[in-house]
Amino acid sequence: MRIAMIGSGYVGLVSGACFADFGHDVVCVDNDPKKIEALEAGRMPIYEPGLEALVADNVRQKRLSFTTDLKPAVAGADAVFIAVGTPSRRGDGFADLSYVYAAAREIAQAVTGYTVVVTKSTVPVGTGDEVERIIREARPDAEVGVASNPEFLREGAAIGDFKRPDRIVIGAEDERAAAVMQEVYRPLYLNAAPIIVTGRRTAELTKYAANAFLATKITFINEIADLCERVGANVQEVARGIGLDNRIGSKFLHAGPGYGGSCFPKDTLALVKTAQDYATPIRIVETVVSVNDQRKRAMARKVVAAAGGSVRGKTVALLGLTFKPDTDDMRDAPSLSIIAGLQDGGAKVVAYDPEGIEQARPLLEGVTYADDAYSCASGADILVIVTEWSAFRALDLPRLKTLMNAPVLVDLRNVYSPTDAVKHGFQYVGIGTTPSN
Ligand code: NAD
Repeated sequence: MRIAMIGSGYVGLVSGACFADFGHDVVCVDNDPKKIEALEAGRMPIYEPGLEALVADNVRQKRLSFTTDLKPAVAGADAVFIAVGTPSRRGDGFADLSYVYAAAREIAQAVTGYTVVVTKSTVPVGTGDEVERIIREARPDAEVGVASNPEFLREGAAIGDFKRPDRIVIGAEDERAAAVMQEVYRPLYLNAAPIIVTGRRTAELTKYAANAFLATKITFINEIADLCERVGANVQEVARGIGLDNRIGSKFLHAGPGYGGSCFPKDTLALVKTAQDYATPIRIVETVVSVNDQRKRAMARKVVAAAGGSVRGKTVALLGLTFKPDTDDMRDAPSLSIIAGLQDGGAKVVAYDPEGIEQARPLLEGVTYADDAYSCASGADILVIVTEWSAFRALDLPRLKTLMNAPVLVDLRNVYSPTDAVKHGFQYVGIGTTPSN
């Protein structure tokens, strides 16, 4: 099949490369010439494990190419995926659909023959209807079906998630569009990935419901963690105790500094707005959004408390800036609020991240960047683990202690055992455990 992918970011590039790997003929389009230039030169514009090799392989097999020119990519395609960004709209938090609609207008001018236009971007209920209206108004002659196919991949594990998904959700309003979509995903039948074919609105809402549920699960265990700290319980053991119940499940029960990233914050907010617009507010998700917002800043206060009540004039070393390991994505990362809180308190911040520094630089002011974990900790009064990169899981604690000005470890991901840290002479503060020293 011929596929055009409009938007070659985290989702578009991974999906495009994986579709090509299934044997389809894929053109990835992006209107950012720098991205396309990099891709044509074999450089990945994002960090995602395994992506470079997958892209190189499919380019070599001539199944994958890149362009800034949407028209020839769309002409003759069987399916055109819209994978552009849908960030929070400034001011009201509703999803900004301007990129999606702009792409739809361009696609309308370029389609030839029967084409299914698919929104892969996360879009609020009813967006598919509007995409269809835009295309039919611009090109009443065009033979077009409009489908929804939300993407569930996780950054850092994106290729595996795309190739072995828990499920594929296809929202279509007619059989012809649904049949094309099933053909696109046919190679995955071999992996027995369940395909759920629904109406378009149902598919659109399914994505938001999934993300809101996961964000709720994280926020729930984070609040239980706070209670654990007060009552002398251990949140990791509570999480294990509840997670082994199959009805609950152990995933997304890791207490931490609050969820961040390019999806949960904006998608929970967009769902809240949609529900309010339809006069059926989802109070649980409203609360999740506000609890999580406050939590990130509260993490800075936790560091201040560990430093004895003030960080003024002190050096705080931060390990990890990205919202999770194995990505360079800095969008809505908890580190941004934590650093702001620490700087407001008068701290000097030194940070290290294995992949995120380049993306972090434009978002942060007054931060010094280190080349590795040990140089980051050198001379620091307090060390904070913000992101659980593998490189931070087995640090040489005795070495860190000799490098630091004061041996204080705030472990916002519970990577270290409090007993171990204390044994090595650290004052240790984790999440959902009683501080030890
Ligand atoms: P991104 O910002 O990394 O990529 C979007 C790309 O689209 C950019 O490269 C941009 O230059 C390009 N673009 C914008 N308008 C264009 C146009 N008219 N023509 C061509 N290119 C255009 O965003 P992303 O993280 O890939 O997210 C895309 C969508 O997928 C969002 O709706 C997001 O919510 C959803 N999603 C993201 C993830 C994730 O983990 N990142 C997971 C599931 C779903």
